[in-house]
This record gives sequence, C-alpha cells and structure tokens, in this order.
Amino acid sequence: MTRPPRTLLLNPGPVTLSSRVREALVRGDLCHREPEFLELQAEICRRLGRVYPEAGDDWVPILLASSGTGAVEAMVGSLVPRDGHALVLVNGVYGERMAAMLAAQGKSHRTLSFPWEAPLDLEQVEACLDSDERVTHVLAVHHETTTGRLNALDGLGALCRRRGLSLLLDAVSSFGAEEIRFLPWGLEAVAASANKCLHGVPGVSLVLVRRSAFSGRPSGATSVYLDLFRHVSPEGGGYPPFTPAVQPLMALDEALRELEETGGWRARRERYRRLSALVGQGLGRLGFVPLLDACDRSCVLTAYHLPPGLEYDCLHDGLREAGFVIYAGQGRLRGGIVRISTMGDVREEDVERLLEKVRTLVES
Ligand SMILES: *Cc1c(COP(=O)(O)O)cnc(C)c1O
Repeated sequence: MTRPPRTLLLNPGPVTLSSRVREALVRGDLCHREPEFLELQAEICRRLGRVYPEAGDDWVPILLASSGTGAVEAMVGSLVPRDGHALVLVNGVYGERMAAMLAAQGKSHRTLSFPWEAPLDLEQVEACLDSDERVTHVLAVHHETTTGRLNALDGLGALCRRRGLSLLLDAVSSFGAEEIRFLPWGLEAVAASANKCLHGVPGVSLVLVRRSAFSGRPSGATSVYLDLFRHVSPEGGGYPPFTPAVQPLMALDEALRELEETGGWRARRERYRRLSALVGQGLGRLGFVPLLDACDRSCVLTAYHLPPGLEYDCLHDGLREAGFVIYAGQGRLRGGIVRISTMGDVREEDVERLLEKVRTLVES
C-alpha cells in the first residue's frame, strides 16, 4: 500500500516539520522548576545567540510562550517607554499591527505609511524625524509578509544610529534565513518566532534585546505577562517567570541543532532561494506574475498575481486536496494574489508535484 503524500504547508508559518523536530516533542515530561529545564533553556539561548554570531553576548534572547505577535508586543510594550514617542513605518499588515499595539498600550506614536507595493522611503522618514523631534524609537518590519518584501534596512539603521534613536525590528518571518545586521543597524531588539524560518513548532516566540536596554530605565510594559524586564529579573534565578511551552521548546532546541548542522542562516537562505526560483519558473510558465521585483523579494515567501480566469478558492481547494496548503492575500490583496512560502521541510520533488497540480488546475 502506498502512503498518501504528507501535507505540505506552503503558508508563512507554521511550517512543515522535519521528522527529527516532530519527534523532539515527545522527549519526555519536564518541570520548568527543575535544573534540567535550565539546561534546556541555556542550550537554546546559546544556539540562538549563534544564529547571528555578531549579536554575540550583547543581545539577550528571551523566550516567551506565545505566537510571533506576542514577541512583537512584548518588545514594543517593554522597550518603548511610557513617556516615549515612537515612529512606526508601515508598508503592510504587520507594520499596522505594531501601531495598533502602541495604541492599545496608550503610548504616543505616529505612523508613516507607504503603499503596500512600495519600499520604505528614507527621505520621507528623515523628513518625518526632522518635523517631529519627540521621536525616541523607530519600529520597522524586516520581512513584510503581507507582500513578501524584504525591507532594506541599511539606510534606516544608519539613520537611527546617527540620530541616537532606538530601532525595534519585527523579524518574525526573517529570523534564521535572512541577513540581520545587529551592529550596523544599531538594533535595540529583534522579535522572532520558533515556527517560521527556524522550523520549530508554534507556541514559542523570542525577543533578542540589547543588554544595555535593561539598565538605567524602567520597563515600559503595560502588561505583566509580556514584560521583558520581568523575564530577565535576577530574582527568578534564571527560571522563567511563568510556565513555558516545554515541549515546543524541546522542538526548538532540535530545530536549532538542525539549522546549525545544515549550515546556518546563509545555507537556509540559499535553500529557500533555490526552491522559490523553482516555484517561480514553473508558475511563470503558467501565467503567474510576481507582485514585486526580484530585488525586493525575501527568500522566504513570494506573492504572485493570479493568472486571468483562475479564482483563488479554486486554486486553494484543488491544491488542498492534493496535500498542499497555500496562502491568500490579506486586506485589499485578498482574491488577487497567492502567497507561497518555501519555509520548512519542503523539497525539490515536492515543488515538482506542486507545479504539476497547479498546471492541471490552470488548464482545466
Ligand atoms: C507571522 C508574522 C508575525 C506574527 O504572527 P503570529 O500569527 O502571531 O505568529 C509577525 N510579524 C510578521 C512579519 C509575520 O510574518
């Protein structure tokens, strides 16, 4: 008997797990108040610190039991002071979400919005900072998953450093597969998630915070659970303040080992690029046109305009039946585009099967 093909998640997280990561979920039971837990946590933090070696010891990884949004909210909540003033750069849903967090926290902020298909315009950022001297923090999204754009941050990072502004980065869908330049961008903190480019399971998110951010000022948090200062407080003796997602952490530990053994973030970027080029060539032959120019796209996810006459739901349902999960557009892009990610345990033969199935759906 042949086994049905496994379901492949081509949505931007959670990802298709490798079997070693899935098996790590059943390593065993563990109390988070026992020393074995501290060992697991230390191992994960050591490996997280090595994903981008230049971050070294200067950025502390903090693990949270939440999805990626929780990490972003903890970062924004704890690090933007209550009397601070933030500038949020928006060219997609995730930038808008950070502005919504600041509004919910009752913190002073302004947003600078660009069209979803456009890059962040540095001249406008600069003009905005010139006209508003209250700004203390700049919030940006690295890979804006809404469109698949990798926002260019060299110029923005240099600008923030020059002006002494703290830059907080949502890198939830890029951490582990795209270059993150901690020093040149002068990052104060980076939010990430276990279940995207790191290939872990949902339930764990993390924030890497520059150590100096914790000294000399109080937490800005308006939440108890998401207060990062509480997570690094020496009173806890290194133990997490709340019950952590123990089994998802075991899976993250395994996923980080796998990332290291397969060559780290650069090798992962190469792999994603190779797979997405294969997808793109195949879909191109079938009439799909990428939403963004190649130089603007992340390696993680590509958005395509649907060919004329093909409805998203028809494509989704046909692929779903064949064991592939794809992703629709958000907001006003819903219906017009399809997003395909190559994160997770996806192989070349999977892409070939995908393309063959899409061909039958386009031609029917
Ligand atoms: C996925 C994602 C998030 C967080 O989403 P969750 O559903 O909370 O995990 C945040 N920012 C970006 C850019 C993302 O792609």
